[in-house]
Amino acid sequence: GLPTSPPPVLAERRKTRQLMVGPVGVGSEHPVSVQSMTTTQTSDVNATLQQIAELTAAGCDIVRVACPRPEDAEALPAIAQKSKIPVIADIHFQPRYVFAAIEAGCAGVRVNPGNIKKFDDRVGEIAQAAKDHGTPIRIGVNAGSLDQRLLQKHGKATPEALAESALWEAGLFAEHDFHDIKISVKHNDPVVMVRAYEILAEQCDYPLHLGVTEAGPAFQGTIKSSVAFGALLRQGIGDTIRVSLSAPPVEEVKVGTQILESLNLRPRKLEIVSCPSCGRAQVDVYKLADEVTAGLEGMEIPLRVAVMGCVVNGPGEAREADLGVASGNGKGQIFVKGEVIRTVPEHQIVETLIEEAMRIAEESGES
Ligand code: SF4
Repeated sequence: GLPTSPPPVLAERRKTRQLMVGPVGVGSEHPVSVQSMTTTQTSDVNATLQQIAELTAAGCDIVRVACPRPEDAEALPAIAQKSKIPVIADIHFQPRYVFAAIEAGCAGVRVNPGNIKKFDDRVGEIAQAAKDHGTPIRIGVNAGSLDQRLLQKHGKATPEALAESALWEAGLFAEHDFHDIKISVKHNDPVVMVRAYEILAEQCDYPLHLGVTEAGPAFQGTIKSSVAFGALLRQGIGDTIRVSLSAPPVEEVKVGTQILESLNLRPRKLEIVSCPSCGRAQVDVYKLADEVTAGLEGMEIPLRVAVMGCVVNGPGEAREADLGVASGNGKGQIFVKGEVIRTVPEHQIVETLIEEAMRIAEESGES
């Protein structure tokens, strides 16, 4: 096809240090990546690898696994080796698992300083081990497990307290000349969370991992994460994201991917432009949009598909899209790249759109 200019974005990325999580670059020179976390017992290697494969297929760039028990630490080498995407071990409480994860060949380790006793005394050893293996560390501060000193100083998990905790720990690593760090400061309140990341962005140049923690079930969590990430990405803040949902992790990846696609931070794939329907609709738009979405799920090429309920805005939107339908009078006018290619009875709209989408994909050579 013709060379096209990159789609517009809302902000330039904040300049950061760069680090590598396995083959995935994190920092302002690299695309914003999507992360998720497995919900399997990490010790169950097959189940964990199976879930990682599902996450990979959904577009996940980096996966994190919990490591609460010795048998989980023992499973890390096999998981790190067999996963197609880089694996980060999530460590709370036990510094010995940090060393185990590094030695297991994990692409990164997440530590929560608030949950590791005498963490400050262990930083030197951790920095040395991480340096020896080229393993980056995420300092993952969480409102629910904030360092006691900072909790006392600030009274509660304020944005300032969260940022100060992370910067304190980063400072300790820096004293040991270790800078392969990314930072997260998660809170369940998007307002507190956004402010905490803004403070961090002003005060350091480490890459930032965005997350609203305990964001809730899918609907609420999706909205909380979307508005918070949007507010930050609008300022160029955020280098890797994790949407936390009380829902299967594949859903987190879908939401994260959609957030990035919405802001042109990741190439858009399937995009359904469908109208909300109104009193003018001559077709069941909800049903049609759902059926088209389901029929085209997993399309690997960028495709904008318009599904419009009537002829008011229908033909206009359908023409702007790669593919579209404007319904009316029990029929659907099918548009491809702005041209009406045919008019079909209502019951053939879905199959015709899917057929045409497959043809476009085939012609682009990427089906
Ligand atoms: Fe209503 Fe037609 Fe607009 Fe859909 S396209 S919202 S049916 S006016």
